[in-house]
Amino acid sequence: MEKPIYLDNNATTKLDPRVFEKMKPYFEEEFGNPASQSHCYGWEAELAVKNARVEVAKLLNASPKHIFWTSGATESNNIAILGLIKHLIYSQKVKPHIITSSVEHKAVLDVFKHCENFGAEVSIAPVNEFGQVELSTLEDLRKENTAFISVMAANNEIGTCNKLEAIGAWCKKHDIVFHTDAAQAMGKIPINVETMNIDLLSLSGHKMYGPKGVGALYVNLDNPKVKLSPLMFGGGQEGGLRPGTLNVPGIVGLGEASKIALLQFDEENKKNCSLRDHLINEVLSNIPQAKLNGHPTERLSNNINFSFKDLSADLFALGLSGLAVSSGSACSSKSSSSSYVLRAIGVEDKLAKASLRIGLGRFTKKEDIDLCCSKIKGLFK
Ligand SMILES: *Cc1c(COP(=O)(O)O)cnc(C)c1O
Repeated sequence: MEKPIYLDNNATTKLDPRVFEKMKPYFEEEFGNPASQSHCYGWEAELAVKNARVEVAKLLNASPKHIFWTSGATESNNIAILGLIKHLIYSQKVKPHIITSSVEHKAVLDVFKHCENFGAEVSIAPVNEFGQVELSTLEDLRKENTAFISVMAANNEIGTCNKLEAIGAWCKKHDIVFHTDAAQAMGKIPINVETMNIDLLSLSGHKMYGPKGVGALYVNLDNPKVKLSPLMFGGGQEGGLRPGTLNVPGIVGLGEASKIALLQFDEENKKNCSLRDHLINEVLSNIPQAKLNGHPTERLSNNINFSFKDLSADLFALGLSGLAVSSGSACSSKSSSSSYVLRAIGVEDKLAKASLRIGLGRFTKKEDIDLCCSKIKGLFK
């Protein structure tokens, strides 16, 4: 049986063959431990990790010494948020107030929930109809003891981008630490931790044509308020913030993926935006029952999210065979409840269940989008 066309690039991306080629030697002849200081196996691995750190830093306009390797965005989010909370509560003996948004990935929302057990005061900011956090909302929630906020760069279900520069400026003005989960944003929206005043940023290899199981956390060590207590203890790697022998092939892959993302930034986003807008226009102009979720323009170049009126789930599944897309509640899990992200932007439950996320990618071709288009139209014939 032929495999369906992959249009689920917000869930994960295919490893770029160039990334794979770059990683290969580090599984084979260059297998050293970068912590081994007494022979060339260690030195080669150390150099490879150093070079990768430079590439990831470049993508963020950061200093390489502010990049810390992790296993992915989930771990980066946990180290950032819990690390700050642990420092504030145990070392500073304060009860901090922290803010996040209602449409964050579970890898932020559930960490915030856990912070409440630690004694933190948590506010969940509602979002506007497009899924963006507004400054006026943050201002309403702000308290004397607001220590940090976590607001995602771009949403994984509806592709909406937040106004990072404005949020960063607001944080700076009020001396609040700013963390952003940028797993979806890398290579798709320009990220500059300097001009955006970002203190902590999480990213993930497998969302940017790199390998799974590797990610990074940017930490603005120049801001004295950014103090993280480690969550794990061991051999002291990564400045003691994230101990454990480094995943050298993965790190090399993430470095190469970052390099390619920067190199192809304009070309790739232009291609995806054009395919995205073509599909959106075709569907909205031919199917009156269709509605686009998220922001019409301030959205990821690779994300489309539709809801369809008067469509049963069974018809949906049948009509879309041949396409690997994410539909309805399947967006988040196997549960039958509708997406909390769609509900947060005011999509009614029934409509939220009849929704479809289409994730374009580096390897998506015009023919793939044409087929997707005709399948969606076919649902309403
Ligand atoms: C995929 C994703 C994560 C989780 O990343 P992993 O590297 O798989 O742990 C976190 N946040 C967002 C916004 C994501 O899209």
